[in-house]
Order: sequence, then structure tokens, then C-alpha cells
Amino acid sequence: MAAPHASFRDSVDRMFTQAARFMDLPGGLEEKIRVCNSTYTVRFGVRLRGQIQTFTGYRSVHSEHMEPVKGGIRYSLDVNQDEVEALAALMTYKCALVEVPFGGSKGGLCIDPRQWDEDELERITRRFTYELSRRSLISPSQNVPAPDMGTGEREMAWMADAYKRLHPDDINAKACVTGKPLAAGGIQGRVEATGRGVQYALREFFRHPDAMQRAGLTGTLAGKRIIVQGLGNVGYHAAVFLSTQDDALITTVIERDGAITNPAGLNIDALRGHIQSTGGVRGFAGGEFRENGMAALEDECDILLPAAVESVIHAENAPRIRCKLIIEAANGPVTADADQILRDRGVVIIPDMYANAGGVTVSYFEWVKNLSQISLGRLERRHEEARARLIVDELERLSADTGLNWTLSKGFKDAYMTGANELDLVRSGLDDTMRVTFGKMKDVWMSNPNVTDLRTASYMVAIRRIANVYRSLGL
Ligand code: NAD
Repeated sequence: MAAPHASFRDSVDRMFTQAARFMDLPGGLEEKIRVCNSTYTVRFGVRLRGQIQTFTGYRSVHSEHMEPVKGGIRYSLDVNQDEVEALAALMTYKCALVEVPFGGSKGGLCIDPRQWDEDELERITRRFTYELSRRSLISPSQNVPAPDMGTGEREMAWMADAYKRLHPDDINAKACVTGKPLAAGGIQGRVEATGRGVQYALREFFRHPDAMQRAGLTGTLAGKRIIVQGLGNVGYHAAVFLSTQDDALITTVIERDGAITNPAGLNIDALRGHIQSTGGVRGFAGGEFRENGMAALEDECDILLPAAVESVIHAENAPRIRCKLIIEAANGPVTADADQILRDRGVVIIPDMYANAGGVTVSYFEWVKNLSQISLGRLERRHEEARARLIVDELERLSADTGLNWTLSKGFKDAYMTGANELDLVRSGLDDTMRVTFGKMKDVWMSNPNVTDLRTASYMVAIRRIANVYRSLGL
């Protein structure tokens, strides 16, 4: 798939070092922040299909400057120590960047989830949870996993239940993982959160003409041609929101079996349905199919949105990428070598650390909800509505009394008098996070002559915050 390139962890380290050299960090602190604290490898057996099957899993803890540490669990045959350590490091920087009070962690299981049925996957997941729990690598106060590639609400519910059985007296047990289904203590808006965050990040980028100018973009998101790689949780939600709410055109979707293209814009829900029923994009009636998906990354477009796996844009194909803006919905889709090539060519990259931070942001809201044992908005909603009604009633009374006879439109009254529910609050908190964070990164990007890209700016904001925590701890 990819040309020879530096490992994912080398790429993350190089990007970190590139940013750190512009900062005046006390001796040794740069190294302390960069290195991964520990990685646990476990091999465990589960009796399945008449014999003991052995699985290999990892949980890496990159930084405990804040606890709990946080990061997803990936199920894939490609999982390895280098990958989980790179992803754990990214989690540390991501949490610092979006001001989520966690350290960074990541886990993975070397498994192809499609080769096991639901019952088998449940047994494997419960056993993996037991192994993690024995070493406090799953715990509401120390280490809180979440979904990632190959896992979702279902796996998180199994993990939460397995943890609860091991710790029946822990009143906070539900907070041991996030990304759970609502019925198991999840939060509204978590499934869509990462894709929603990608949408909010792009909307924010398009509110800044100076940022758009650097990418050679004008206008709004409407009509912009977007190529999406990976129509899973993140890619699907980003694509469906951008096409149906911002009128962007998803011109190509690249999946494992190839690419499907329609210059007038693909119908994402229909395509998703096709993938679910056939297993791939081949044969979808609403576009033209090509077997060579990787070549489609090089098609001309305004925005490239990789949302599948790491290292898909590397030194070999970077010179041929023909977009103005890349938004890294996946973790690490652009290698350090490709990053340099694209930067030299004037392509602007919205980095993964920021672009896909919607997931961990809403996971944070879920963790807070679990610890407080109450859903967001439950106390305030009707009170807010009653206060809005007071104002509307008073305005209407004044208008009648003074003979002005204003009438407030029904649309306005309904919207104004509706208190925020959990989903409204989650989206509001996420939107705020993406907007405030973009401002912080952009300040560094635009004001520091050494900084020519958003990735370096994002690392600098994150590293500064982590360094401040270490300093306050006396290190
Ligand atoms: P997912 O398993 O739901 O979806 C991944 C999709 O990519 C699948 O449709 C798969 O078929 C496709 N895919 C895999 N390899 C491919 C390839 N080589 N070419 C084209 N398509 C390919 O995973 P996800 O949760 O959407 O995660 C995608 C990326 O986003 C990962 O890098 C993950 O670390 C990152 N991420 C996910 C979350 C989250 O909340 N799920 C949060 C932050 C970052």
C-alpha cells in the first residue's frame, strides 16, 4: 500500500521535535514529554471453536501528567507496539490541545473482528478487559479506553460490564470507558462526535479569510469538492454532515475495495447502505467505480479528508496530491516526510491532533456525566424554558398595553422557549472547543515567523500546556 516510510511513531516524534525546537523548554523536559511512559503487552487465551485461541493485546500509557489517561482501543490485524505508542503520544498532545484534563493512552488487539461472530467477540473483549483491569489499565480514575477502529458502542458496553463485575463496589464503574451506548451510561452525540468535530473544524477554518487565503480557498464550504477515504464511523459522519448541512460535494469515497466517484456529489446515506449490504463500494449505482483506491487520493479536489488509517499519504505520493486543504480525520494519515513535501507545495493541513479531537472531547463529557450520575441539562432545562416564557409573555403584554401590537413569530418563540437537552449541550460544548482551539493554533501560526503550518502550531500549544503542568508539579 504505502511506499517505504518512517514508522508512525518516528513520524509523531519528528513532528514533536520540529515544534519543540522553537520553544525554550528547560533541559530534559522536552525528552520527558516526548517519551512513552510504558507499554503493556498481554497474550491471553480464549477457548473458541474447540481450541484455545491466543490473542495479543497492548495498552500504552504515554503521559500521566494528568490522570486518568485516555485513548481508544483498536481491533485490527495491523495493531503493533509502534502504532499504539504513536497513537498514545498523539492522545497526550490532543488532550492538552483541546483542554481535556487527561493524559494520553491507547490500546489495541491484533484481531480481525470480521472473522469472529458476536458471541466470540464478546468473550474475547471481556477477557481482554480482565487482563487490563488486573493492571489498572482500565479504571475510572486511572485509565479510560474508548472506541477506535474496529470497535464501537457494543465493545465499550461489554468492557464496562466486565469491569463492573470485577469492581461491584465502585460507584463510578460506568466511567471506566466512554463511547458506551446510552442504555449503558453513554452520552447523546458520542457516536457522531468525531465526524461532527471534523465538520465544526472545517466550518471554523472557513470563518477565517487569512487561513483560507493560505490554502488558496475562497467562499464557503458550499460546492467545495471533497474526497473522503474510509466511510466508517468518522468518515461517514463527517461526509454526511458536510454534504447535507454545508452543501459540500463528496465527489469520491475511497474504501478497502476501491473508489467510487460522482463529480455532482455522492449520496452518502445511500452509499453507506450499499457498503453495509455488500461489504464495499463496488457496484454502487450512484457513481463510477475504480479498483485502485489509492490512486483516487491523487484526484483533484478542494479538500482531502482521510478518515481510515495512518501513513496513506507518504513521500512517494505526496508530490502528486492535488488538493488545497487536507483535514486529517484519521490519526497520522500524513507521514512526516509527506508533511514536509506538502507544506513546501503550499497545501494546508488541519492536523489530526485537532481535526479528530471531537471524539475525546465528547468522551470527556461522558466521563463527567458518569461521575456526576446525572444527564446533562436535566436540572436546568425546564427552568430555562420558564424564564424564556416570562420574557416572551412580558414582551407580548407590553406590546398590547402600549398599542404597538407586535407579534413574535411562532418560529422564534418555539426556538427561544426550548431549553437545551443533552444533545444540544454536547454539540455546543464541542463547537466551542473546536472554535476556541482553532483560535489558539491560528494565533501561533500567524504570529510566529518560524511557524509555517498548523501542525507545528498545534504541537506548540499542546507542549506549552503540558510543560506548564510539569512545572506546577515541581518537575
Ligand atoms: P472505523 O473502523 O469505523 O472505520 C474505518 C473505515 O476505513 C472503514 O470503513 C474501513 O473499511 C475503511 N478502511 C480501512 N482501511 C482502509 C484503506 N486502506 N483504504 C480505504 N479505506 C479503509 O474506524 P473509525 O473509528 O472511523 O476510525 C478511523 C480513523 O479515525 C482512525 O485513524 C482512528 O484512529 C481515527 N479516530 C477515530 C475516533 C473515533 O471516535 N472513532 C476518534 C479519533 C480518531
